[in-house]
Amino acid sequence: MLAAKDPIKTTLQSLAEKHGFLAVGVAKARKLSEEEDSLKQWLANDFHGSMAYMENHLEKRLDPTLLVPGAKSVLCFLYNYYPEKTQHPAAPKVAKYAYGEDYHRVIKDKLHNLMAELQQHVGQTSGRVFVDSAPVMERQWAVLSGLGWIGKNSLLLRKGFGSFFFIATVICDLELPVDSPVTDHCGSCTACIDACPTDAIVQDGVVDASRCISYLTIERKEPIPGHFKDNMEGWIFGCDICQDVCPWNRFSEPAQEPRFQAGEWIDWDAEDWKNLTQQDFEAQFAKAAITRAGFEKIKQSTGFIQPD
Ligand code: SF4
Ligand code: SF4
Repeated sequence: MLAAKDPIKTTLQSLAEKHGFLAVGVAKARKLSEEEDSLKQWLANDFHGSMAYMENHLEKRLDPTLLVPGAKSVLCFLYNYYPEKTQHPAAPKVAKYAYGEDYHRVIKDKLHNLMAELQQHVGQTSGRVFVDSAPVMERQWAVLSGLGWIGKNSLLLRKGFGSFFFIATVICDLELPVDSPVTDHCGSCTACIDACPTDAIVQDGVVDASRCISYLTIERKEPIPGHFKDNMEGWIFGCDICQDVCPWNRFSEPAQEPRFQAGEWIDWDAEDWKNLTQQDFEAQFAKAAITRAGFEKIKQSTGFIQPD
């Protein structure tokens, strides 16, 4: 006989659907002891480059009950961001996740609304919403919540959807039935490893961020080292290569959220980017994630990918 579905979980799933999430899953809040050695090794290898914040709050990063005292569950949500329209083919490239309004704000708004509605059903709960904003191992939680597997490119992949989605978590004191992890479906494919222009995927599922174009064009404060000059493949903010080549991303469908649609800049060609002024930048990208890099960094990266 099939077990009866938990009514709160059923409500959570219908609220997630109502608010446009692709999927939701639940894992028990506990220390991720099984991740400790690999995280420490990744840091010891200096794969985090100059992202010193990755070294901070290691215990909290591994254990959500230290981040949110009293936490019982980690609720994981996926939100599609695959764009309807892509850039002018000759333009310097921006990663698709940054086309629209800053996802931190958009997804947080949705999750706060969702949790407020959930509380109407379950009463007062306490918890915190995280969208890539605190030491939370989102991908590992998404795996434990049964939402997908970590691909060789180190990103979360979901069968039938691919990887062009945001991951957000709510760490809370609700006790809910947990989901089971799913099987890895990378198989013998190595398309992402073969396509990475900077050889940043150093082993299956492990990226040396200090070599990754995403880090070089966003997180790295200093200029991009000259030896990467021939490997940038036109990217000035992030990089989608290891997602674009992934066979699971053939299933990507355009996102429905209007706040994730790009502005007029999506039609800019190489010349428009070259002539970009601070004023245009601020006008076009006022609410966009691309402002994380800032005008100077974008100009620097645009100059870097142009032939001498
Ligand atoms: S994002 Fe680009 S540079 Fe980074 S691992 Fe993927 S293909 Fe390589
Ligand atoms: S490209 Fe292939 S190996 Fe890489 S994440 Fe996708 S399925 Fe896995």
